[in-house]
Amino acid sequence: MSVAASLHECSNHPGVPAMHLCHVCAAPVCGDCCIEQEGLVTCREAQHRETASHRVLLGRCADLFASDLVVRNLSAAGVECRRFDPREHGVEEPVRLFCLPAEAPRALETLSSLDLSDFLIRDHHAR
Ligand SMILES: [Zn+2]
Ligand SMILES: [Zn+2]
Repeated sequence: MSVAASLHECSNHPGVPAMHLCHVCAAPVCGDCCIEQEGLVTCREAQHRETASHRVLLGRCADLFASDLVVRNLSAAGVECRRFDPREHGVEEPVRLFCLPAEAPRALETLSSLDLSDFLIRDHHAR
């Protein structure tokens, strides 16, 4: 159990401690409400499972304003990102952006050429 998850209760079962935070949307989930595949734990939303298995975490944005800027500019460059805001689930973490692995290099080049790299937080979890 991660420290972050243990602070929350399951988003589906009030009163039940969460075991994990969904890799995609960060919803706190108990053992019954999560699915593990290829080492990544997600909630049971089909789209989140699909995102975890087919997309990579491009990076995080400090807030919705920054993520808007990044998502719009990437979209204009032909890179489609999926955005998930952990704060929707009461989790104080940065907004997460996922894209197709093949498009990640172009996404990073685009942000760099527009001088927007500072709006994207990259960490060692990004693959
Ligand atoms: Zn989820
Ligand atoms: Zn649950």
